[in-house]
Amino acid sequence: MKQTKIKLLLFIAILSIAGFSSCGQTEKKSTSDAAAAVAGDAETQKKVNALLNEMTLEEKVGQMAQITIDAVMKGPSRYSSSEPLELDMDVLRDAIVKYGVGSVLNTPNVRARSVEVWAQIIGGIQDVATKESRLKIPVIYGVDEIHGATYTVGATIFPHELALAATWNPSMGYTMGEVTAYETRASNIPWNFSPVLDLGLDPRYSRLGEGMGEDPYLISRFGEEIIKGYEGKDNNVGDPYRVAGCAKHYLGYAVPISGKDRTPAYIPENVLREYHLPPFKAAVDAGVHTFMVNSGIINGIPVHANYDLLTNILRKELGFEGVVVTDWADIENLYKRDRVAANNKEAVKMAINAGIDMSMIPYDYEPFCNDLIALVKEGEVKMSRIDEAVGRILTLKYKLDLFEKPTVNPEDYPKFGSEEFGKKAYEVAAEAITLLKNENNMLPLNKSAKVLVTGPGSNSMRPLNGCWTYSWQGDVADEFAGEFNTIAEAFHAKIGANAICIPGVSYENVTDYRVEKKDQYNEAIAAAKRSDYIVLCLGENSYAEKPGDLVDLSLSKLQLQFAKDLLQTGKPIILVMVQGRPRIIREIASDMNGILMAYWPGNYGGDALADIVFGDVNPSGKLPITYPSAVNSLVPYIHKPSEEQAKAEGVYNYEGDFTPEFHFGFGLSYTTFEYNNLQLSATELSGNQPLEITVDVTNTGKMAGKEVVQLYTSDLVASITPDMRRLRRFEKISLEPGETKTVKFTIDASDLAFVNAQNKWVTEAGEFNVMIGNTGLEQKFMYK
Ligand code: BGC
Repeated sequence: MKQTKIKLLLFIAILSIAGFSSCGQTEKKSTSDAAAAVAGDAETQKKVNALLNEMTLEEKVGQMAQITIDAVMKGPSRYSSSEPLELDMDVLRDAIVKYGVGSVLNTPNVRARSVEVWAQIIGGIQDVATKESRLKIPVIYGVDEIHGATYTVGATIFPHELALAATWNPSMGYTMGEVTAYETRASNIPWNFSPVLDLGLDPRYSRLGEGMGEDPYLISRFGEEIIKGYEGKDNNVGDPYRVAGCAKHYLGYAVPISGKDRTPAYIPENVLREYHLPPFKAAVDAGVHTFMVNSGIINGIPVHANYDLLTNILRKELGFEGVVVTDWADIENLYKRDRVAANNKEAVKMAINAGIDMSMIPYDYEPFCNDLIALVKEGEVKMSRIDEAVGRILTLKYKLDLFEKPTVNPEDYPKFGSEEFGKKAYEVAAEAITLLKNENNMLPLNKSAKVLVTGPGSNSMRPLNGCWTYSWQGDVADEFAGEFNTIAEAFHAKIGANAICIPGVSYENVTDYRVEKKDQYNEAIAAAKRSDYIVLCLGENSYAEKPGDLVDLSLSKLQLQFAKDLLQTGKPIILVMVQGRPRIIREIASDMNGILMAYWPGNYGGDALADIVFGDVNPSGKLPITYPSAVNSLVPYIHKPSEEQAKAEGVYNYEGDFTPEFHFGFGLSYTTFEYNNLQLSATELSGNQPLEITVDVTNTGKMAGKEVVQLYTSDLVASITPDMRRLRRFEKISLEPGETKTVKFTIDASDLAFVNAQNKWVTEAGEFNVMIGNTGLEQKFMYK
């Protein structure tokens, strides 16, 4: 249950060192058209100003308050709701009419609801807001529909973002966004807390699977597309099929030192700017309407109290004009968890003055409202700050057309949960699943083969869907997604009785499993002996946020032992890793005949996997992360030359050198591709002159296939140790057998820039290298 988060999230920040100075900032960038449009047109602004003029301080402060739905439902407490659900009209009126609360989030008891139930609940809330409150201001409802409308029963569930990024096909981000927006609006919800744009540099992090991997450029390209999918190409969120997106979690969320959620991170300003900021800048430029703040602590300063990040950088530099909402209970966390404030009032003052517009409170709205009202009266928070925040919130409500249409009729959404949408989710899964090993081209398998489908991931919808699916922790997926195929069911649908499923083990790490549950274990081993192939589905069960924190990234002991015992049968094993982050498989990887990374592929993941294993789909996914080989070697592909000393010296064999299990950008196909004829339009560049790079790619195998052509550059000498290589462009192409295509990329000096020791973006003169993926094709040029 989500309220347990309160307890789970309580811990202490230790150090207090400098935040980010505003000196050394890049010059204020001119605000893009998209970003400016978020501010609303003149007519909207007129309406907003007129309303602001009418509002009392109390009404304004209420608009800045967001509460969770359980707080206004009948139930044993504010933290949970009784079933069947019923709004507690007294509490609701207290919140919406008396306190003027402007926003509600989440789903009751953190469980998915039907479109009809959503219509009833949100209809009830909007009725009170628009009929009983003095100024009749509608409420804005927000939820986490981060891979499809996952809190609505019967909605189309897509793969999670990490899988989406593994397609290396950003148009799929648009599709996912568009379908999700349609189904979220059908649920009467106009605001989606997505996309996650955090830079996933740490494979231990429990939220890695929610993000798009470890490269800022890849994340940016997908982020823009998802936002356009949510908000529409022109960001017209008043369209009844679109929702407002939310770029989160700004900024530097996914890299705490411990690898554990919401623990301290230490990030130098140049690093923050060069690697973490670009996806958020791309989101502003794509016109996203809202931002959510990182719940963590950077350099000792909780981000919710960081004026430099929230105002100097986000507002003044990036030009963001939309609404900034806190994460869950994060104003309270400033005093309860992080101890930078002595009490609630001080915490409210810090956060609002740092630049927060809306507080995700989420239960007790009275202290937030009362303290903020007092702070304004005492002159500790300026009225202009309140007007700015409330102006943005009202603008968003106008732009979403909530004043005219606070609710929708689900019947106006005939495509909800349709086959057409399901096919799109399937296609993402089919392009995402990544073939990492295929010894002797064992895959694809013949449909007449006898296959044992085993492992804890083999016959459950839960690991396929991961977190935020039908519930926060994703633990009820089998109850809600019964009509979809687990991996075993998909294999059965494809090859009938030739597929046998015996899971053998669970995800539990029970050392004496073979004693307690030895029958299941032994049954699987015996079935393996009778099969031609073993499809072994290992990895992780679903988890979200802090409950997903790990002390050991290795695959659980029980699963490793099971794999080793299966190896003893001598039967070939295809390992399928169903997981939100790359669990270490060093002990077994070299003995596996095939390895597939399935990520959290969603409700169609089982079908997509079976299609790949039997060759009905040629795999084309590529890793959006580095797959590490050992727990002390978690270095991402963006790293400095000193991580590869043995390679450079060519003499020693340092165990600690950068030797991942699988490289970022890696993924096999059933066909082969040959790269030739790398050409650069110039060998010397200056100013903003573009550089054109072309390369010929040929399908030299027997099957049609898709290939991701990846362009990297490296700066050979720079004032800050340069990265070994950086992804600058990519394109996914389709090739028939024997077909050749010439792929052209254009870059300029801005693509070669980095943030220097003075925290400025610079392109330094000197020699650069252009590389095409891992093909070995490379060519140097000079920048003068
Ligand atoms: C998560 C956010 C989410 C919010 C609302 C928080 O705990 O960090 O990603 O949007 O809850 O559910």
